Amino acid sequence: MSLLITGGTVIGPTGAIAADVLVDGETIAAIFAPGQGPGVETLDATGKYVIPGGIDAHTHMELPFGGTSASDTFDTGTRAAAYGGTTTIIDFAVQRTGEVVQDGLAAWHAKADGNCHIDYAFHMILGGVDDDSLKAMDQLVADEGVTSFKLFMAYPGVFYSDDGQILRAMQKARDNGSMIMMHAENGIAIDVLVQQALARGETDPIYHGITRPEALEAEATHRAIALAEVARDCPLYIVHLSASRALEHVAAARDAGRNVFAETCPQYLYLTLEDQLGAPGFEGAKWVCSTPLRSKHESHQRDLWRGLRSNDLAIVSTDHCPFCFKDQKERGVGDFSKIPNGIGGVEHRVDLVYQGVVDGKLSVERWVETISTTPARMFGLYPKKGVIAPGSDADIVLYDPNGRTRISVETHHMNMDHSAYEGYEIAGRVDTVLSRGEVIVSDGTYHGAKGRGRYLRRGLSSYLV
Ligand SMILES: [Zn+2]
Repeated sequence: MSLLITGGTVIGPTGAIAADVLVDGETIAAIFAPGQGPGVETLDATGKYVIPGGIDAHTHMELPFGGTSASDTFDTGTRAAAYGGTTTIIDFAVQRTGEVVQDGLAAWHAKADGNCHIDYAFHMILGGVDDDSLKAMDQLVADEGVTSFKLFMAYPGVFYSDDGQILRAMQKARDNGSMIMMHAENGIAIDVLVQQALARGETDPIYHGITRPEALEAEATHRAIALAEVARDCPLYIVHLSASRALEHVAAARDAGRNVFAETCPQYLYLTLEDQLGAPGFEGAKWVCSTPLRSKHESHQRDLWRGLRSNDLAIVSTDHCPFCFKDQKERGVGDFSKIPNGIGGVEHRVDLVYQGVVDGKLSVERWVETISTTPARMFGLYPKKGVIAPGSDADIVLYDPNGRTRISVETHHMNMDHSAYEGYEIAGRVDTVLSRGEVIVSDGTYHGAKGRGRYLRRGLSSYLV
């Protein structure tokens, strides 16, 4: 079946153009000058941006953490993503320490298979680097379409890798063409600060942020960059970068021509240590995430927006890892270190970054790059995803710059009993969402279905030299 999207402004790598987009079945068949397309069924996009569907390269559906699990399943989380204009997620399969890597991947396939509303792919978290997991990296790249591996410099005893393990994984990635993703915080030092704070009776949520100072993110970021250099410039992607000094290290590496990339997340662009994490009583637990929200008295948010403009920050992902306040976040009453780490935002990323366009911080083209095109290229999904071009999947969002979105727990679709962005007003709105040619959201109504999302085997990153 054919569908012609007419009258819109198509945003792509070459700029914004008035064009009509012909969808045939699951893919984009052709792009026409306005009014020049064939006489088939039409979808009116007059006054709207026509953009490739959002790609959220960092989600944690159903992630077990701190004795509980992230509250969105692949069903609820991907449906919420679709509402917000995201048509692909890349979630993190987990190898727990001592577990066979392939078993961890199989467990994530079992959670996702038959439950996703949109297409999905996996990165692999390595909870232990040894001879077996290094061998498994080759197998995942060659056979499973998993071409990026996440390591942790934080969470000793849980996910932590020491520098020797990190170096070995980086050397392997350099050899097989895959990407190392890094949670860059010095977890050994952080754990000392956490114990000292608790011993002083500092138990409120804000101490989660105070015990994870910027210096320990900057130090770990710098160390990861140095280790990647030793591993013959292994491609390195810093996840959830939150702070100015970490960004300076990334920028310096990039200026030197290194294969170093980074993402930030909406929470670091909008929320702060004082206003959210420091909310009265236990309220701040809603915003406990790692890396933590940073101080509003410093220049982090200004610097992060600037980094997005300059491409020192390549991507905005959500690190979607929702926990309900009741019973989940509440596990940490009286001890901030027991609060499950994570913020839910998979539904709001496209809107929250678009607000940066409205506020004059990003161009409309840069908005599309950071939420869709670059994630596709970075993680081996381009040009199937991330672009409106003939042959690409017809994952398309009609975005209304004259619409408005008010974010609230009352109206969101994530399985959370609160919103991290309660009351935020966005001067734009997701109007229509197509996933592989099928209209799954129109005018706030959902038409998709659980199980229609497909697993995507990824290729290697387009960014590698
Ligand atoms: Zn994460």
